Amino acid sequence: MTDLHIVTPGERDETPPTQDAYDAAVAALHRHKERADRALNLLAALVDPDGCWFDHHGGCHAHGYPSLEPGEKCPQQQAKELLAADGVEV
Ligand SMILES: [Zn+2]
Repeated sequence: MTDLHIVTPGERDETPPTQDAYDAAVAALHRHKERADRALNLLAALVDPDGCWFDHHGGCHAHGYPSLEPGEKCPQQQAKELLAADGVEV
């Protein structure tokens, strides 16, 4: 996870990257994409397709999160939203 370096505005180098540096950056992006895809597939397998059900305090008892704070979402709902943003409906 340490092979991807994000350049911040203060450290921008005007020298064009070498082909090797470009190829290494593209390879690093592909590795991260593969890992992200694996994680999303795993998350899709783990997420509960059933909806949340809340008590009068806002805790989700369907998924075992009875102590959610006001405004806090159930992690299962957060996972579904993350997957939906990637085009995966659960
Ligand atoms: Zn829930």
